[in-house]
Amino acid sequence: MSADYAVHGDVAVITLNNPPVNGLGLASRQAFMQGLDQAIADPAVHAIVVTGAGKAFSGGADIKEFGSPKALQEPNLLNLIVALENCPKPTVAAIHSVAMGGGLELALGCHYRVAAPGTDVALPEVKLGLIPGAGGTQRLPRLIGVEAALNMIVSGEAIKSEMLAMLPGQQLFNEMATSKDSLLEEAMAFAKGVVGTSPLPKVRDLPCKHPNADAFFKFSTNMVNGMTKGKYPAPLKCIEAVQNATKMKFDQGMLAEREIFINLMWTPECRALRHLFVAQRAASKIDDVPADSPKREIKSVAVIGAGTMGGGISMNFLNAGIPVKILEMKQEALDKGIAIIEKNYQSQVNKGKLKEDKFKQRMALLSTTLNYEDLADADLVIEAVFEEIGVKEQVFKKLDEVMKPGAILASNTSTLDVNAIAHFTQRPQDVVGLHFFSPANVMKLLEVVRGSATGKDIMATVMDVAKKIKKTAVVSGVCDGFIGNRMIEQYSRQAGFLIEEGCTPQQVDKAVETFGFAMGPFRMGDLAGNDIGWAIRKRRYQEKPNMKYSKTADLLCEQGRFGQKAGKGWYDYQAGKRDAIPSKEVEDMIAKHRTSLGITARKISDEEIVQRLVFSLVNEAAFILEEGIAARASDIDMVYITGYGFPIYRGGPMNYADQFGLFNVIQAMKRFAQNPHDDAQFWQPAPLLARLVAEGKTFN
Ligand code: NAD
Repeated sequence: MSADYAVHGDVAVITLNNPPVNGLGLASRQAFMQGLDQAIADPAVHAIVVTGAGKAFSGGADIKEFGSPKALQEPNLLNLIVALENCPKPTVAAIHSVAMGGGLELALGCHYRVAAPGTDVALPEVKLGLIPGAGGTQRLPRLIGVEAALNMIVSGEAIKSEMLAMLPGQQLFNEMATSKDSLLEEAMAFAKGVVGTSPLPKVRDLPCKHPNADAFFKFSTNMVNGMTKGKYPAPLKCIEAVQNATKMKFDQGMLAEREIFINLMWTPECRALRHLFVAQRAASKIDDVPADSPKREIKSVAVIGAGTMGGGISMNFLNAGIPVKILEMKQEALDKGIAIIEKNYQSQVNKGKLKEDKFKQRMALLSTTLNYEDLADADLVIEAVFEEIGVKEQVFKKLDEVMKPGAILASNTSTLDVNAIAHFTQRPQDVVGLHFFSPANVMKLLEVVRGSATGKDIMATVMDVAKKIKKTAVVSGVCDGFIGNRMIEQYSRQAGFLIEEGCTPQQVDKAVETFGFAMGPFRMGDLAGNDIGWAIRKRRYQEKPNMKYSKTADLLCEQGRFGQKAGKGWYDYQAGKRDAIPSKEVEDMIAKHRTSLGITARKISDEEIVQRLVFSLVNEAAFILEEGIAARASDIDMVYITGYGFPIYRGGPMNYADQFGLFNVIQAMKRFAQNPHDDAQFWQPAPLLARLVAEGKTFN
């Protein structure tokens, strides 16, 4: 049963019971309606309390039902709410813990609402590219005022019930309960007190006015336009729907809300956001490692290396209240690393993002050492030393010697073989890759690299740790570059060819940024340091002598144009500034190189630029999927959204390819293969991609 029914004296209590958050799927709605019918029919029942079991009042609609016939099957949510509103006996929502989306809208259909303090109240539909679709945009403004309601609806953010209860003139909560524990009792007492009230109050009958409506909605529209830059349709539609509430009769406003909701549902942006919502949850699951697998306890962490990555990695654990001990070879390196951590925190304090006492608490959790013996008791050690296999060997042999049995030994390597690293120790089952992204204290992505020997309990533990430090963990198998960097290498190769064929760096960057990437490949190279890619390419020239590369980036590096840190890269930079200024020197260098190759520059469309870059990711990803390096296409989307600045509203490269049509992707690839300056071999569709097209299927 997904809703329980009970009668206490003359009050019926209908309790949504569909863990974890009492989602309003079809079975819940049916059971709820049955309870309501029963309460209405029972002459001994004089009032009805509606609540939720366990950890939520209700988290809202069941997202898995979205777009499926089940979502519309009766009783649909709208009709359930109408039934509550028209109920001849008083209905009281007893709200606690979480009241979101459809859950909140259900409560707004009740005649009265009693809330427990600490309840998270939200209409978060905008985060899925939608507007509230079951009356939220029409009822909430009538209860808390147009401005407060619009803020909640446009942001989708949760507000605590006690804050809402303080809004002047609010009618959302008729009463605040003393606590969650006493909520039901207090709501039942409230219900008894309103028995016999006539007529019963309906939110729909309340006025919805703003003293300065036109100016307010114009201001809101400008704000939203400034923030979304036309990329997200839903926030503007939220404004339209709430504005309707101030202009239209209730029923008309409801119809308009429904129409907007349905139109948004099939926009690419909404589909992308819904896809990512599901992808995010899927990524934390490992098929052969069930959620209840035994885990090791991680109460302290050691980090080897206090460089760029070691410092950032340490901050993640300090932020989560987990003590960290950093080891370095020399005191100066330790001092330098600690100073940077301190500076980072200090700048957060200066910006008002971190309280001084929190800063002190975090720094107090940090200690340093030059001796491996001091690390022995750590539950997890993460190595972030130079990217050289010999250095890694030294470090892991030493760790194997000193670390207590059961400690997890992790490497932050971005390119080296995690299996080889594991076998530098006598305990390969305890070794795992934890590939953080730079800056490690900021970037959400964590690639968890599962070695062939890595134990299941280790996987379960590190996935759990990732959650504690608020990372999006995606599991990758062992291969060069893992999921993200293996794909980006193909993208960078394409960027190189585009330059040789006639593009300027700024043209490529602009096309990609207009598509929605946070940064184009050349600005990105300048930020990360062009020497990193150079080092990788030098290795590739040895490993894959037949692979075609553009040499432009090598010429750039030979001139010391390593990027922002050198004050010059693909662009010029003024001292202390990060603005990328197109460089005449680079332009001349490219032109000279082009001539030496006998290429006549041609005009390349933005469409071609974007397709070559994005589809190069997609084709490589198809190999990665087929090889089992990634478990699901949606995991690859999460990697690109959280680690590489892929536009969220496009849902990641695989979702984008699915929506573009895989048949069309292959057609484009065939065209690219005809280009004599490109790599025809690379554009042969990966077998998986070809198969999906032949079978009329998609990645996701
Ligand atoms: P870095 O040069 O900034 O820092 C490395 C630190 O390790 C230095 O402080 C050095 O003194 C110390 N070190 C070297 N050998 C040591 C040893 N034997 N014992 C103790 N300390 C030692 O390098 P980084 O950018 O922080 O990279 C570290 C690791 O993280 C590499 O494996 C790299 O591939 C990986 N990584 C880097 C990035 C990035 O963007 N920089 C991103 C992901 C992963």
